[in-house]
Amino acid sequence: IDLYAPERPNSTGWDLSDVVDIDAFDAARAHFQDRRWKASSIVVAGETSGPEHDVRNPANPDDIVGTVTFAGEAEVNAAIGASRAWGENAATRAQVLNKAADLYEENFGELFAVLTREAGKTPRDAVAELREAVDFLRYYAARATELTAPPCGVFTCISPWNFPLAIFTGQISAALAAGNGVLAKPAESTSIVASLAVELLHRAGVPTASLQLVVGTGSQVGAQLTSNPRIDGVCFTGSTATAMSINRAMAANLSPTAPLIAETGGINAMIVDSTALPEQAIRDIVTSAFQSAGQRCSALRMLYVQDDVAKPFLEMLFGAMDELVLGDPWSLQTDVGPVIDEAARATILDHIDAARDSGRILKVCDALPERGSFVAPTVIKVDGIADLKHEIFGPVLHVATFGSEELDDVVDAINATGYGLTFGMHSRIDDRIEQVTSRLQVGNQYINRNQIGAIVGSQPFGGEGLSGTGPKAGGPSYIHRFTKTERTVVPV
Ligand code: GLU
Repeated sequence: IDLYAPERPNSTGWDLSDVVDIDAFDAARAHFQDRRWKASSIVVAGETSGPEHDVRNPANPDDIVGTVTFAGEAEVNAAIGASRAWGENAATRAQVLNKAADLYEENFGELFAVLTREAGKTPRDAVAELREAVDFLRYYAARATELTAPPCGVFTCISPWNFPLAIFTGQISAALAAGNGVLAKPAESTSIVASLAVELLHRAGVPTASLQLVVGTGSQVGAQLTSNPRIDGVCFTGSTATAMSINRAMAANLSPTAPLIAETGGINAMIVDSTALPEQAIRDIVTSAFQSAGQRCSALRMLYVQDDVAKPFLEMLFGAMDELVLGDPWSLQTDVGPVIDEAARATILDHIDAARDSGRILKVCDALPERGSFVAPTVIKVDGIADLKHEIFGPVLHVATFGSEELDDVVDAINATGYGLTFGMHSRIDDRIEQVTSRLQVGNQYINRNQIGAIVGSQPFGGEGLSGTGPKAGGPSYIHRFTKTERTVVPV
């Protein structure tokens, strides 16, 4: 199998260091900064009704981005009943998905604006996310024509708010490319960008019965969409705990062979030994831990620094953190935007407060905006990764030191968490890198670079153990999990 699918063009986007593209950015801002969108389910049965909830910009509670109407129980059941596998031939499906990719690019400014105002994405994150979404469409379209097996039927795709366009699009485009019908449930806090995406996919030619958008809460809509026997498979990205409950609901209600493709959490570590180049390692730590306000499942949570270099190394890290600009996600200067909402902020602050009570805070960035759901990037001292009982989904980095004889113990401790999503290592000694990577049970391992931002088609993304079922998103085997096994017909 060709991993790269070379016949696929790269996505285009804005280069935010280029004046021409900055003009496009400014134009999008002028055009969309006051727009209010309306989102509701997009289903075969047509119009939905019900109470409208305001959607507010996480960086500015006065900015109302639009309204969203959640689906009721009957509406969800009707959508499930109307759902159909796509069933066109693979070449047609690929053509339609490629057309959708073009439409995403043509509507870059609007999608960019919604990513910024609904999800608090900084310009750099919003551009990267849009490009990833387009890459997913074209990558799975290219893969569709290789398939030899029929679709499973109808897939439920449940996606998270942290990549409300890229992961949303990645899941549904893989399911559709394989010929399935899809019931897509976006995270309730990012329903607007999902509804714009579904409109574009329909405009490109995906039939409505083969792609319905159902907006609502996980506890109601998500539960219905994972426990109805008409569903043939579930694709989910989110917490490990939710994946477990989906697994149980599927076991109780769906066919025992219905696949669950789950990409879940991680407690991701990085090891920096005394041979590492500090300037490079620090840049990569800041990126891995604090870009996207730490709201990536790939983000660095636990940094191990070799003890003989730890003191000056951490001082340099704290100096770099002082340069971070927190604030308005619309601004090109901003490095760290808000977290998704006040509830997320409160959970992260509880964790930081507990560390403060036990005297373990090493660094907190200042210059925090007064309003909006912001959390200052923070570094907390711990003894080791075993102290992190669960994933803290925000800009919080934990640090421990290790001695030269303790490298294997660090690897054992990382493996013992049971998670295995991303890992980073900075070292100049190849044998030491091999000693670590050969034993680590971690899906994506990054050496002498940052550990976020896997690229579709060249860096398939996904974890082991509690971090996910596989196959990896953006990799050659992903789409196959959305099909049945191939049929063998033997003539006499
Ligand atoms: N694919 C993303 C990355 O490599 C992370 C996806 C996620 O946060 O769920 O950074």
